[in-house]
Amino acid sequence: RTDKAADAVARLTRWHDDFPTPGVRFADLTPVFADAEGFRAVIDCFAAVATDVDLVAGVDARGFLLGAGVAATLGTGVLAIRKGGKLPPPVVSREYQLEYGSAALEIPADGVELAGKRILLLDDVLATGGTLAAAAGLFTEVGAEVVAAAVVLELEFLKGREHQGDYPLTSIVKL
Ligand code: AMP
Repeated sequence: RTDKAADAVARLTRWHDDFPTPGVRFADLTPVFADAEGFRAVIDCFAAVATDVDLVAGVDARGFLLGAGVAATLGTGVLAIRKGGKLPPPVVSREYQLEYGSAALEIPADGVELAGKRILLLDDVLATGGTLAAAAGLFTEVGAEVVAAAVVLELEFLKGREHQGDYPLTSIVKL
């Protein structure tokens, strides 16, 4: 399963130099998700990361695709972790540094009972790690527990893993 997913990522990822800013080599996973077998393999990998979860959360925007697929497979609900300003108040918000710039992530502060919930956190790419750490911080702030996090692609040279909490972090491909 992991091999199949890793093969699809290696074969189909579209790399682009100096996007969105000079010096960044951008990994576009669009063709991996657009491929039926690639998408299935990635979703199955993530669904095996943690079985005992209450809710799957995906980071804006490609994490939404992963979150929905994994949640449907596990039979849980899905939560979209939005970029700042997209959700109506009240929200819980965290600012963080990106590989290129700074930004905020938000989740609703009401309407979804999060206290005590076991969360599986997903995103497409782990770069400097600020995004995933901020996303995890949102859940600890509301009393939920991030039981595991997973990304499709980990850019190891950016050392994003060092900035994570004590949840296990799975990546399908490390580069
Ligand atoms: P970071 O906070 O530096 O770990 O950045 C991770 C977030 O930014 C993820 O949501 C990625 O989608 C995106 N991202 C950062 N760097 C890249 C990259 N080189 N290729 C693709 N996506 C990236």
